[in-house]
Amino acid sequence: MPKRPTRRPVSAEQQRSCTRKRRYRSQGDALDAALLAGVERQRVAYPCPLCGHWHLASA
Ligand SMILES: [Zn+2]
Repeated sequence: MPKRPTRRPVSAEQQRSCTRKRRYRSQGDALDAALLAGVERQRVAYPCPLCGHWHLASA
């Protein structure tokens, strides 16, 4: 994923992925969920600028 300036507007795609995805209270919670699903190697946790929670994305 290319790096972009931090103050970017929220795209419709980001909005969709936020509403579609499960939210986690912390990075640890997100990684625990990936671990339980056995996909911790294929997922990365990231803080969501929209909801302020954490989501999992494909690594
Ligand atoms: Zn979100």
